[in-house]
Parts: sequence; C-alpha cells; structure tokens
Amino acid sequence: MTPSSWVVVGLDNGGTTNSATVLDDTGRFLVDTLVESPSRVREGPDVAVRALVGAFDNVLELTGMASGSVRAVGLGTPGPASADGVISSKGSTNFSQAAWHGFDFRGALERRLGVPVIYNNDGNAAALYAHHAHFGPDAALRSSVSAIVGTGLGGGVIESGRVIRGAAGMAGELGHVHIPMAGLLEDGQPVPECRCGFVGDAESVASLTGIERNLLPYWLTRFPDHDLAAMGSMAEAAKLVRDRADSRDPLALEIFRQQAIALGHLFTIASNVIDAHAYFVGGGVVEAGPDFRDWFLAQIRDHTSLREEQTALATFALIPHLDMAGARGAALAASDSLDAR
Ligand SMILES: [Zn+2]
Repeated sequence: MTPSSWVVVGLDNGGTTNSATVLDDTGRFLVDTLVESPSRVREGPDVAVRALVGAFDNVLELTGMASGSVRAVGLGTPGPASADGVISSKGSTNFSQAAWHGFDFRGALERRLGVPVIYNNDGNAAALYAHHAHFGPDAALRSSVSAIVGTGLGGGVIESGRVIRGAAGMAGELGHVHIPMAGLLEDGQPVPECRCGFVGDAESVASLTGIERNLLPYWLTRFPDHDLAAMGSMAEAAKLVRDRADSRDPLALEIFRQQAIALGHLFTIASNVIDAHAYFVGGGVVEAGPDFRDWFLAQIRDHTSLREEQTALATFALIPHLDMAGARGAALAASDSLDAR
C-alpha cells in the first residue's frame, strides 16, 4: 500500500473524553476503533487545549503518520458556539467555568498545532459523518437531515455534502424547532416545555431531558402502579425507559411512540424546508435491540408526511457507529475545507 501523502485529523471534544481519528488523502480512515483520552474540559481551557494536543499526537503515533503530513484538523465540541468555534458567552453544560465563556477554542488549538483548524459543533459533525457513511461517493450530490436523540436533541442539515452552518453558526438546531402537538399529545397531557424556554419544540419531547421533565411524569399518572413510579428520582427513572422499551414495557412504548411522532413532525417540517434525500436518526435508541429499533424507525417514517414525489426518493435510516461519528465528521469537514480552497 502506498503511504498517504497527507492526512487530516479529526478531534471530538466531549464532556469527559476526546475521541480522535485520521483520514487520508484517499478518503480512508486510518483507525477503525475508538481512540479516546480524557478531555479535562472541567479543568479549564488551557488544560483542555493541551489535552487535545495530546490526543492529536497520540492518534498520529498510532497510525505512524508524521505531524508534518497533517494538512488540517477538524474540531468538534458540544454547542452552543459560534460558526468559528468561539464558545458561547454564557458558557454551556460542558463549558461552565468562567474562563470558557467567549473562549476562542478553535483559534487556541490552531495556534498550538500550527495547522488550520476547522470547527463544527458535534451535532453537525455527526450529521456530516452519517451523510458520508450513507451516500459514499455520491455524498456531494445529496442532502440529508440528522436528528440525534441524547440528553438533548442535536443533529444537523447537510446540503450537497456540506454542513449548513448558518450566519451565526446556529443552523441545524433541530431540537428547538417548534412542532405541532396535535396528534402527539393525549387529551389532558400538559404541553411539554424545553430547557431553552420554548414550549412544544422537538427537544421537549425527543430527548432524555424531555422524558425526565415531560413524558415520564405524565405517563406515570396513566400507569400509577408502574415500578418506575417508586424510584423517587425522575432523572434516574428516565434513564431506564429505553431498556424497558426493549422488553416491550407498555409505558416505555408510549413514551417512544410520542418521541417518534415528534421526530416525524420535525422531519415533515424539514422536508418542506430542504426536501432532503435522507432522514437519519441517531442516539441511544440505535443501540437498542433490533426489534425495537426497527419499530421506532418505522413509527418515525409513518409520521413524516412527505409528498408522493419525495416519498419515492427519500430514505430513512439509523446512524451507525455514533461513538466515532463526531471525530470522523470533524475529519471530513477538515478534508472538505481543503477541497474548497
Ligand atoms: Zn428547546
């Protein structure tokens, strides 16, 4: 095999770990496992930037590539941050320390590494990876919308193989799109509220936080004898709902049915905005058993109202290898930035 003449490195910066990968000039990932190290973000920006440099050195050593062969680096972090990787002036869950507020994370890493660093929030990076993994050589000719159900609802929008970032870096914030509650809520069910202050947006239903704050409290009133009612902590109980769905627990299935309807309503809105070739779903649900997974995806598809012409073209799929999607998507964005020059 001829050695690559150049590579890009993808770095995914999470709350506890960094994940790293290397992509070569032929579009091949040189690591096929998860390469993780502590992110140390809670120790502040200086320590965290050094930890990322360590992750960079480590993954290059692992693949036998010299740092001189690196043309660009992709960096992904949880949002909110600007399109250019400046952490929100209000901080965020992962970047709560005052030193992080308004910190130019991308710029700081670029100065330390001496190569261009391309920033994407982790949702957009994962969406870009899902898009490339699904479409392969046709990626540049296709569009997709990815919804990733985690603590919140993240994701991204891809057009012609590229992330739509938006003017302020806030495009693809799918979780905070308002969705119709008609056909979703039961009679008398309170309208769900999101952490962002909106009422009835997609994340207020389709997220772990949505289960904890909105769906589980309601459904426990309908299943008062359910063992999750006896747990005392709604946060702990919410984390168990997915496993229960795997074993066909009726309360858990009601909760996931409502999440699927929410995602269907979200994709319906997206279909009228960007008319995508594919709608991807990721998150914990993808790791559930195949029966539940397939049921969940089918429910989403059934609740997405596409026009006949769109139905003939559109694909619905689960996002694979999500644990590596952040780093791989960040690397793909870095590689695309070289093409754009
Ligand atoms: Zn919201």
